[in-house]
Amino acid sequence: MEILLHFIFFMSGSCLASFIECMAFQISHSCFRMRSRCAECGHVLAWYDLIPVFSYLILRGRCRSCGSRISTVHPVSEIACGLYCAALYRHSGLTAVLAGRVLLMSVLVYAAFYDMYTMEIPDVCLVLQIMIFFVFEQRDCTQTAARVIPAAAAALYVSAAAMLFYVFRKQSGIGFGDIKLYFVCGLYLTFQQVMTLIAVSGLLGVVYVLASGKKKIPFGPCIAAAFLVLILYV
Ligand SMILES: [Zn+2]
Repeated sequence: MEILLHFIFFMSGSCLASFIECMAFQISHSCFRMRSRCAECGHVLAWYDLIPVFSYLILRGRCRSCGSRISTVHPVSEIACGLYCAALYRHSGLTAVLAGRVLLMSVLVYAAFYDMYTMEIPDVCLVLQIMIFFVFEQRDCTQTAARVIPAAAAALYVSAAAMLFYVFRKQSGIGFGDIKLYFVCGLYLTFQQVMTLIAVSGLLGVVYVLASGKKKIPFGPCIAAAFLVLILYV
């Protein structure tokens, strides 16, 4: 029974990632379609082409109609979110905390995909993240001030680093959306955890730059990934 529940959470997380990616793509490109299509040839995808992870493996990463490559971002995000939801279930059981954390994952995955498509993090994601914090994580409002300190420290630290980078390199190293995301993530963490978040997300950013070969990358996915893994241990 436990194995089955873990599998159900894995598949739910994968489906959620697939749905959120589709939503982020459509909203960021302002193209709303009822049916998913191949980005290259416009071929309408059948239900059996939309099964998370499995369809990608069966199709060997290519469109059934035109044979163009399907981005590896799709199966990687589906597997990551699937494993994450299974880990959340293992960590929290069937509780309200689990519901809050799944919502938090959904908002951050949307922010990460939106950032990948537009190099911007929508403010609505930050507002939702704050709302989830107050509903599921911090019901005692007297503790809020103590939570704001690590959040403000994160935002200030990253802003100072960005300013120094600008002074020496004459180009912006990090966007304002990223700084706001650090602040909101900092609400969930202690001062020490915030420093770990900055270090791990920075490291992921370096790996992303080296792997993609691009000079400018969306940094939101790095912050989101580091934060989601970190709060599993909070
Ligand atoms: Zn195609």
